[in-house]
Amino acid sequence: MPLYLRYLLPLIGLLLVTDLSLAALAGTTPHCPALDANNPAQREALMSHVCFLSATPGTPEHRAESPDELPADIQWTSAKGHDLVFSHTKSVYWVRLNVQNSGNTQKLWYLKLNYPLLDEVTFWRSGKIVGPAMTTGDQHPFLSRGIDYRYFLLPVTLGAGETQTITMRIQSSGALNVPLSLETPETTIAESNHLTLIHGIFYGALLVFAVFNLLLFFSSGTGYYFYNAFYMASLGLFLFAMGGFANQYFWPDSTGFANTSIPMLMSISSLAMTLFGRSFLEIPTNTIADKVLTGLALTSTGLFIMAFLLPYNKSIVLNTGIALVIIACLFVMGIVRWRQGYSPAKWYVMAWSGMLAGALIYSMAAFGYLADFLAREIFMQAAVGAQVILLNYAMVQRWRLLNEKLLDVEHNARTELELKVHERTAQLRSTMRELEKANRQLANLSLNDALTGLYNRRHMDNLLPELCAEARRTGQPLTIALLDADHFKAVNDSWGHEFGDRCLQHIAGILRRHVKRPRDVAIRFGGEEFAILLPGTDAEGALGVCNGILEDIAAIRVPADDGTPVTLTMSAGTATLLQEDDERDLFRRADEALYRAKARGRNRTEQATAESS
Ligand code: GH3
Ligand code: MG
Ligand code: MG
Repeated sequence: MPLYLRYLLPLIGLLLVTDLSLAALAGTTPHCPALDANNPAQREALMSHVCFLSATPGTPEHRAESPDELPADIQWTSAKGHDLVFSHTKSVYWVRLNVQNSGNTQKLWYLKLNYPLLDEVTFWRSGKIVGPAMTTGDQHPFLSRGIDYRYFLLPVTLGAGETQTITMRIQSSGALNVPLSLETPETTIAESNHLTLIHGIFYGALLVFAVFNLLLFFSSGTGYYFYNAFYMASLGLFLFAMGGFANQYFWPDSTGFANTSIPMLMSISSLAMTLFGRSFLEIPTNTIADKVLTGLALTSTGLFIMAFLLPYNKSIVLNTGIALVIIACLFVMGIVRWRQGYSPAKWYVMAWSGMLAGALIYSMAAFGYLADFLAREIFMQAAVGAQVILLNYAMVQRWRLLNEKLLDVEHNARTELELKVHERTAQLRSTMRELEKANRQLANLSLNDALTGLYNRRHMDNLLPELCAEARRTGQPLTIALLDADHFKAVNDSWGHEFGDRCLQHIAGILRRHVKRPRDVAIRFGGEEFAILLPGTDAEGALGVCNGILEDIAAIRVPADDGTPVTLTMSAGTATLLQEDDERDLFRRADEALYRAKARGRNRTEQATAESS
């Protein structure tokens, strides 16, 4: 058992014992002592001056329509200071009070009957001035009561030294509470002001919350907000009717509806409690709890219809029973959901404990098992007010929970996305590196000769104009040499084309060895034709390089397939860039020099002369 329940239950018990003031406890006294209306202490102890008569059906007292018709020998019972509270009864109650004005001026007091739900009350005043009888109650139009007030107020005017006997005949199909007090007009007005403020705050807050939740529902479409609004509105309306306000403001002329409205609004509240509880606690569908709540919702709907068919006293008992069952069920489900780890259920259970206690005390007061209905009403209002605040706080908690979940999902999604982006970027980088490498290889391939690995003709065509422009700009010499294998056709013819290829590779190797400076370039630009580009080298230097190459080539022995060592020779022609030369002139002069070398016996180097251009 939760701790607060351990304290709450004895408290309810205590309230029951102290307030239980059934008429049966009262003894009999022959008459009711007069009350001095000028004496505040006596006004306070009004119930010690009140006596009553309980008239069961069939007796002449029950049949009597006015005090004059009462049998002369009847025995009045003193209330002995206790409140008059009777649970559902068919009896008619006669209540009598003698009031006296001990002062020496005429004065006005109000006799207040603080219970709005009595079916019929008739007041008679007898004294020097005999006022007309006033019959009112919620089975009469609201304005049948002389004063527009939710409780019954009887103005009592007493002349100096006058004593009046006030007799009331009370009949009601519900519980019968007769909380009486005699007040000065000042007190009545002040008390009415305080109560108006409290009720204004209570119903105003309820209305604001209900409208706020309804707006939330319209803007978000979440059913939960609708149930919350429905719950607060129906509970507010029910308490409004119980408090007598609905009779006063909503249906002052519908006497029949005054009674029907109570069980009707109660069944609507029960339905709202059930739907709201199910939605708030997020009861999973198709569970036992869900089925129980569906059953209770259907029962509440049935009771709504029954409110128009059944008599008030039956309907109200059924409705109270169902409402208490619903409150208890939701309390248990709240605890279960809390235990299941659904955190908003904690707030629900807290709010609901107050509601449970409030509803119990309230219904006991309404049924006449507890006195002073007004005090219970405030208790119920406090319970409902606290509940509304707690449940709305819980709603904010739910919202926060949902928000956190959303943020979590968003965060995870973002982290995942970042990871993926990283991964993709890395993949992209490596692909780009591979692509660059492939591009470089492609570029090399397009500028290199496949057989020998030397640069090819395209590279020479790109490079030579640049080298010429640079030499002219810097004034540095530029010499090129064209080299051609001698009688290479014969080599191919004698030893085969493959062997010829091998020889070309040997030649390339020798060229590579001799072209040592970083900027020197060796090129195979046609079948057995080679070129070397020597920037910064003059004719003499180039001659040296060519002779070195030719000597090395003549010195090698390339073994043929049958082992025969084959010798090779080459001829070379060099040309150095002249002031007026362009790359075509330079190449042509080198070619002419090569032609001369061939003509002059091969295996030699010839230099282009200035005149040859
Ligand atoms: P010379 O230059 O001394 O006047 O005589 P040559 O026989 O070398 O001259 P020619 O230009 O008539 O013949 C060139 C030969 O080179 C023709 C061809 O058989 C051979 N040749 C050209 N390109 C290749 C090649 O890529 N591989 C091989 N194996 N032989 C080639
Ligand atoms: Mg040739
Ligand atoms: Mg040749």
